[in-house]
Amino acid sequence: MKTFPSDILIVGSGPGGATTARELARAGKKVLLLERGVDQRKSAIYGTYLGALTYTDRMSLLFTQEGLNIVRPMMVGGATSMYCGCAAPPPAWFKDKYKIDLESETESTINELKIEPLAPELRGEASTRLAQAGKALGYDWQPQLKFMKPARCPNGFDCGAKCMLGCRCGAKWSAAEFVDDAVSLGATLITNATVHRVTYEGGAVTGVEGRIGGDPFVAKANTVIIAAGGIGSPRILQASGFKEAGQGMTMDTTVMIYGFIKERGNGNEPPMTWSWENLEEGYMLSTLIDPWLLYPMMMAIKDVRYALQWHKWNNILGVMIKLKDEISGGVFADGRISKPLTVRDRERLGRAEEICKKILVEAGADRSNLFMTPLRGTHPSGTVRVNHLVDTNLQTEVKGLYVCDASVFPEALARPTVLTIIALAKRLANGILPKVAEPSGG
Ligand SMILES: Cc1cc2nc3c(=O)[nH]c(=O)nc-3n(C[C@H](O)[C@H](O)[C@H](O)COP(=O)(O)OP(=O)(O)OC[C@H]3O[C@@H](n4cnc5c(N)ncnc54)[C@H](O)[C@@H]3O)c2cc1C
Repeated sequence: MKTFPSDILIVGSGPGGATTARELARAGKKVLLLERGVDQRKSAIYGTYLGALTYTDRMSLLFTQEGLNIVRPMMVGGATSMYCGCAAPPPAWFKDKYKIDLESETESTINELKIEPLAPELRGEASTRLAQAGKALGYDWQPQLKFMKPARCPNGFDCGAKCMLGCRCGAKWSAAEFVDDAVSLGATLITNATVHRVTYEGGAVTGVEGRIGGDPFVAKANTVIIAAGGIGSPRILQASGFKEAGQGMTMDTTVMIYGFIKERGNGNEPPMTWSWENLEEGYMLSTLIDPWLLYPMMMAIKDVRYALQWHKWNNILGVMIKLKDEISGGVFADGRISKPLTVRDRERLGRAEEICKKILVEAGADRSNLFMTPLRGTHPSGTVRVNHLVDTNLQTEVKGLYVCDASVFPEALARPTVLTIIALAKRLANGILPKVAEPSGG
């Protein structure tokens, strides 16, 4: 059996794992980063429909018991390889309610990655029209902050919303770039490495066990950071004896409301260039429709009649709702995932839907055939919550065992998650661990 000594072991290379790996490598720690997927960026199918099927869990056909579709990318960079490149600062309640202050980490990330909205001429005509319709109705739509730099595209910015399959034009920042930084600073990345469980003795962590390809391996360290995402992290903890891991989850349950217009819709425009948050009700609206080939797949789940409208894809105008769903269901040890909407969730979703319909009509959509897509979940989170399974330092009851990813959210964000996860990871790596971590385990 292979063994790997290190100071600090990190499981998962999404924004949580990649950021902690980079910051700790920068601080001179011997970091071992274990990722179950591989680096897809140089693959010929990266950023294509075929690619998107290959590097997502169950070829994107992962469903909760209630039928909610979950897109779960598994590769170097985690879900940021397929995200829409949107950024939002952590909600104020992180500091006010949970005493987790992420201000300086957020600011440093915004400055470093030059996070800002796309230039007005790149926000898309149809998307801008939707935002203007929203504003005309009294909803204060704003240009969405983006992890996107069109100037980085060697052959010109040609987003076409295909960045949700994996960015091919190069504009979008992904956590794989922080993995590159970590490796160049001396961290070791092992791909195809699936961690099954954490080991501990006398209340202190000793390492992890799993498989690299088909071969078992053991890695030892006295600091372990689990960053395998909202579904992966509770599963590892369950297998390690944490019975309450995965009990309850949040998802920012998402739907799109579509209408048809005579002009070109927002399908080929960069995703989510404008948004509006209703903090009182707990949801966010943004400009988005499913990429071309995903449209019939998603709509077939609803009803084949909607899938047959595929030929009108170019004329669809879409608004996305992200709901601050209440904690419910969970990720269970037998493989099931459940995410029922509560009565209150359904009521708020219904009211958000009505507002979207008004906006679509104001933007010129035909009132007679507006419709909602099936429910889906792109932010599985809240499965290893702060103040439940980890403390505000993100440490579990096992000394030296931390969790740092979307699973620690104590409640749904209902906004883009990545900037918050990066800030949490910087706070852990630079603020918390230097004060508590012991010297090398070896
Ligand atoms: C289509 C889509 C669009 C999105 N758009 C946005 C957006 O615009 N803005 C935004 O902020 N957020 C967006 N999100 C959400 C965001 O990408 C995720 O919330 C975020 O990446 C979660 O980060 P994480 O570190 O928790 O985990 P992940 O990014 O999920 O990374 C976890 C990693 O751990 C690995 N892993 C899992 N299990 C194991 C194991 N047992 N052993 C080893 N490795 C393991 C996985 O392969 C994965 O690489 C989007 C998500 C999707 C799917």
